[in-house]
Formats: sequence, structure tokens, C-alpha cells
Amino acid sequence: MIQRNIERILGDHRLVCGVSYEGKVYPGEHEAFLSEEVYNQAQVLLKLNKRERGVSKNKKFDGILSRLFRCACCHASMCHGYAKKKNNAYRYYTCLTALKRNRKDCPIKSVSASVIENKCLDILRYISSDERLEKERWKALNLEEQITALRSLVRQINYDGQKGKLYIELTHDSHKHEFDLPLAALKSRLRTTGEPNLEQEPPIRRQLLLAHQIQQMLDKGQAKDLNQLAGWLGVSKTRLDQITNLLYLCPKIQEEIINGDRLQIERIGERTIRPLSVEIDWQQQISAWKKLLSSETLSA
Ligand SMILES: [Zn+2]
Repeated sequence: MIQRNIERILGDHRLVCGVSYEGKVYPGEHEAFLSEEVYNQAQVLLKLNKRERGVSKNKKFDGILSRLFRCACCHASMCHGYAKKKNNAYRYYTCLTALKRNRKDCPIKSVSASVIENKCLDILRYISSDERLEKERWKALNLEEQITALRSLVRQINYDGQKGKLYIELTHDSHKHEFDLPLAALKSRLRTTGEPNLEQEPPIRRQLLLAHQIQQMLDKGQAKDLNQLAGWLGVSKTRLDQITNLLYLCPKIQEEIINGDRLQIERIGERTIRPLSVEIDWQQQISAWKKLLSSETLSA
């Protein structure tokens, strides 16, 4: 039951990344709390671990611009991923700087994949005479053929979402083609399709989800130990210990953290809950939890 709910929530925010990553270690900038960025890093780590081990190379999640599309502001790859909302999956290209480090570090963050792909195709039809790009012909190609076609034509595409510019370099021509983008259209489209928005989840909920992910990675041998994970995530080992201790909470409490009333859960911090997770008796845990919920509500 809990496991299913966790998967549901994780599924809502899961980003699938298709770009290689060198496993760099970043200094702990997020000591105070486990932020969305750290959570996102965990998502990326999970996926990358899968890829590196050759377990999954799911073509379905590749975008036609994968490995060609770059953020002009950070000079980083923009990687293809998707977010699931209700029953719809939305595709995005997200700057690796925003994924690996901090969303605030990149002014672009992410852009709707379908919008940018269509825009690039329109432009390519204009600057290239390759017949595979002709609309009917293009539609008849499968995703892999489309990717192959674009990679043979395009060296790279740089996107500057601040200035509203696209710079396209073709393989057989040294010119850097520059185009203006209708920024307003891109932005409003992004707003309506909605970015994966983890800030909306209460911190304690995100932390518990992360704890489960960490547990999963350790169980599957995707990470050696907490020390290694702490390095990857750029947080201290102590902080990770505190986060993973949430797994000692009894199932009922965990379920309430995942499914409970957002406003109530939002008021409870990891530090407040820490004494509960060292309590071995589940009944004691539950009565302390109930007390906590009511007092937090009163004090607010
Ligand atoms: Zn960027």
C-alpha cells in the first residue's frame, strides 16, 4: 500500500535523463534542508545508475533533440525527460545545470519538448533541403529514424531562453544560424503544461520519498553506502542518516506523511519528528505522532 503510493508520487515527478554524466561531486550547499534540487539529483542518479549498468536503455524516452540540444546560458546539455501529471505525460528538455546542481543556477531551467522540437523542425526545413524533413516524409519515420536523421544534419542547437534565441549549427556548414523565438508563446505553454513541481510537496514528504529511493538504491547495489550517496548528493553523511532514519517510522505514520493532509504535514519538520524514529514501540510512535499533529495544528 505504502509502496504503491510512493511509486505514484515518485511517478508524478520522475525525470528521465538521457545524457551522460561523470558522477561529479559537488560541495554540500544544502546542509540546512533537503531541497528540491537534491531530490532531483537523486532522480538523475537513479537513472544514470541504471544506464551505466546497461539495465535500461529505453529509446522511448529519447527526444529527437537529445544530445544536440544545449543551454546557451550554462553551456550545458539540455536533457530530455518527462513528467507525469494525472494521466498525461509531458515532455521537457531540462538544463543539466538545473538538474545536477540547483534550479536557481540556470535561468532557463526547462522548456516544453514538443514546442521546441516543432520550432527546430520548422527552422531546419527552412535552412536545409534534406528531403527526410519534408512533413509527410518526416511523419512516416519512427523515432529512431528521426533521431538518426537529425544527428546527421545538425551539429548542435543552442537555446537561450532569456534572449529568446535559437542558434543552430549544421554538420555540413560552418555558419551559426540565429533565430528569434516567440518567448511569450513558449512561456505560456510551459505554464499550462506545468513543470514537475516538487516544491509543492511538503518537505517531510520529499525527505521520506528520498529515504525510500536511497534504500532502493542501496538494496539494488546501485550505490555502495551512505557515504558514497552523500558525496553524490552533495550533503553530509549526518544529514543522510537523519533522512534515512525516517524509514524507522511505523508504516501508518509513513502513510500519513505520504497521503495525509498537506497543510498539516507541511508544518512538521524532520527535526520535530526525529525523536519518534528512535522510538521502538510503534504504539508509542503513533501516540507521539498524534500529539504532534494536534499541537502543530494549534500552534499554527
Ligand atoms: Zn542552463
